[in-house]
Amino acid sequence: MRLPATDNHMHVDPERGIGTEAVRRFASRGGCTAFIVVKPRSGVPDAERLMENNLSTVKLAEVAQRETGVRCYAVVGVHPVEVDRMAGAMGVEKAVEHAIKATEHAAELVEQGRACALGEYGFPHYPAAQEVVDACERVLLFALELARDAGCAVQLHTPSFSSELRERILGVARRAGFKPEKLVKHFSPPDFGEIAAAGIVPSVIATKKNIRRALEVGDGFMMESDYIDELSRPGAVVSPQAVPKVTAALHQAGVLEEEAAWRIHVEVPERTYGVEIATP
Ligand SMILES: [Zn+2]
Repeated sequence: MRLPATDNHMHVDPERGIGTEAVRRFASRGGCTAFIVVKPRSGVPDAERLMENNLSTVKLAEVAQRETGVRCYAVVGVHPVEVDRMAGAMGVEKAVEHAIKATEHAAELVEQGRACALGEYGFPHYPAAQEVVDACERVLLFALELARDAGCAVQLHTPSFSSELRERILGVARRAGFKPEKLVKHFSPPDFGEIAAAGIVPSVIATKKNIRRALEVGDGFMMESDYIDELSRPGAVVSPQAVPKVTAALHQAGVLEEEAAWRIHVEVPERTYGVEIATP
């Protein structure tokens, strides 16, 4: 019996990695649906480059879907690390200006149905200057306002979750009139109870250990590989096959019931993103 497998967060980089071959490998182990998230390029971007990158991610998802049969959805936007890099090079005001312009373009791609969600928004995962954190918050607020109007979800990139961070994010969502149920915490800890209690949807890295732990908390989460597709950084994350592999292994081990697998891979993403999820 085949179970569905949805990878909520993977990057595909034809320049520095294996490109759509990553999606083919995902498919070879039973992967059905992949959310392909725009990957920050090296260097300092500007609005133009950010928009180009979003557009090429959309095209990549279209090509990957055609070539592999995996249902591919693009997630586009501006990463907090890009806001930080721009702030360092041109000051926070200019950085926010570029990020906002690129976010408007990303939201248009969603409105056109070429992308399905905005991401990654939030805060750098490393300690950053207060003015950079504040700039990221302004960009997040703007992204949530546009996502609210577009009716789409937003993938969050943040430092380790704390109650302070949770309150900060929920505060921004409230100001934007954005429902937490459409906020996805990418790279969620397997102990996702606090995140789910805030109404935010957790997405847990697919290792056997993580998913075993997450299943002890419940089945209201998604799985992701966070594959970065960069050959110079092998093993920086799990492989693009991780989600279907771990799903099958834990099912065989009797840890992951069929019903929970359908919840994790189909129900939760369909409810969160409002898109159709492919199944075996
Ligand atoms: Zn990512």
